[in-house]
Amino acid sequence: SSADIGVTGLAVMGRNLARNFARNGYTVAIHNRSYARTQELVDQFGNEGSFVATETVAEFVKSLRRPRKAMIMVQAGTATDTVIEALAEHMEPGDMIIDGGNAHFADTRRREAALRKRDLLFVGTGVSGGEEGALLGPAIMPGGATEAYASLGPMLESIAARAADGTPCCSHVGPDGAGHFVKMVHNGIEYSDMQLIGEAYDLLRRGIGLEPRRISEIFAEWNKGELDSYLIEITAEVLAHTDAETGSSFVDVIVDQAAQKGTGRWTVQNALNLGVPVTGIAEATFARALSSGNVQREAARQLAGPNPAEHEVSEDMIDDVRQALFASKIVAYAQGFDQIAAASAEYDWNIDLGACASLWREGCIIRARFLDRITEAWGANPALGSLLAAEEFSSAIAQTQDSWRRVVATAARVGVPTPGFSSALSYYDGLRSERLPAALIQGQRDFFGAHTYRRIDKDGTFHTDWSGDRSELSL
Ligand code: NDP
Repeated sequence: SSADIGVTGLAVMGRNLARNFARNGYTVAIHNRSYARTQELVDQFGNEGSFVATETVAEFVKSLRRPRKAMIMVQAGTATDTVIEALAEHMEPGDMIIDGGNAHFADTRRREAALRKRDLLFVGTGVSGGEEGALLGPAIMPGGATEAYASLGPMLESIAARAADGTPCCSHVGPDGAGHFVKMVHNGIEYSDMQLIGEAYDLLRRGIGLEPRRISEIFAEWNKGELDSYLIEITAEVLAHTDAETGSSFVDVIVDQAAQKGTGRWTVQNALNLGVPVTGIAEATFARALSSGNVQREAARQLAGPNPAEHEVSEDMIDDVRQALFASKIVAYAQGFDQIAAASAEYDWNIDLGACASLWREGCIIRARFLDRITEAWGANPALGSLLAAEEFSSAIAQTQDSWRRVVATAARVGVPTPGFSSALSYYDGLRSERLPAALIQGQRDFFGAHTYRRIDKDGTFHTDWSGDRSELSL
């Protein structure tokens, strides 16, 4: 037994993570259900470092130095359970199984509890950055016991992406499912970010009438400022790309139906359970569903819209769109962090929100300059209540809000859908409102269902006798 760590599941992610470990000087045991992938890795990349190719699970586990560390990179779901069980059978107390797949955090909690009973450590970890990130340095979000992180952490940190200040984008997020939870919200924020960028593009394209190449230049320019991020950068690249076959803009030959693998949906489902309004992520998830709703889109094709001739939009709006994008993006992150904070309280995870933001600075899809400011904001005041209340962001929004409002109003006027921009603005206005119409809703609920209400001027619960003399009862 000579390997420092093992990786089982050698499709794109597992293969590249195994190579990443090996390139960092570790001896890596490799295993895959079908041996062909293992052989292929050895043939193609065996010279990159020290690999121990194994054919069976028993051999794989045996090749690991104790306490053993075996990382699973297989399809999330039942495949993961199958592999965990196979590994556990051959392991001994104190050994560790790491799941780097996109597991649902509830599965991770269940698996961690079950393996703990068998004296095995289980670390569910979020890995972000896709194929390239896995090889060159992903953002890594490990959950599991602190004891597990003590020995595994340094290895993960050595293969992780590094932020500009040299810090690895990997730190212990919290117990059991905390790592996979944070990865899930990361993906939800990614949905939101992409939707907002999509809306900005749509406004420049259909609202103002600019061509993709020009819009690409605008995004490239925006990427030099506070919007500086991986997603803005690749947006500029995609928009500049020309389809070789037709000579058209690449974006114009793609079917406009956005697919999803489900992490956005998980984020929204969990947010509904926790009662956290993540409207940005929800709108982004539903916008993808709307784009793919063939039947409804076909049925609605003839519906009336505003007369385009009457609604010229000038290029003055370009900078307004940039500001609306930034403001909406701040809201999306504020909501995502609210969800992490709520889950952390619910599951006793004690997650450091600032540390979370710093994990995402490099390696992952939502990497962005502005994450440093989020870390600073939570660092300066962990009891902020909302990221929007941090001086950094409240003043940024104060400066952008006129633009933001103009963009949402213009979009409504010209008929370009902006569910992300609009819902973010409504959320912002909702939060800052002194009084909300929720008071009226409580009145309605009391009227039809005797659901009771509280008063602003005294403690207690009250009900008005709506069907009788309308006197108020104190309950
Ligand atoms: P896939 O999700 O396509 O999974 C393929 C791998 O799973 C193969 O090694 C396959 O083995 C193995 N596998 C499938 N079913 C079983 C089973 N029942 N028993 C044993 N092994 C099985 O691979 P990816 O590399 O794309 O992703 C791996 C994990 O990483 C997934 O959970 C994914 O969600 C997650 N992830 C992926 C990212 C990406 O960008 N692709 C980014 C971050 C995380 P075989 O070769 O024998 O078929």
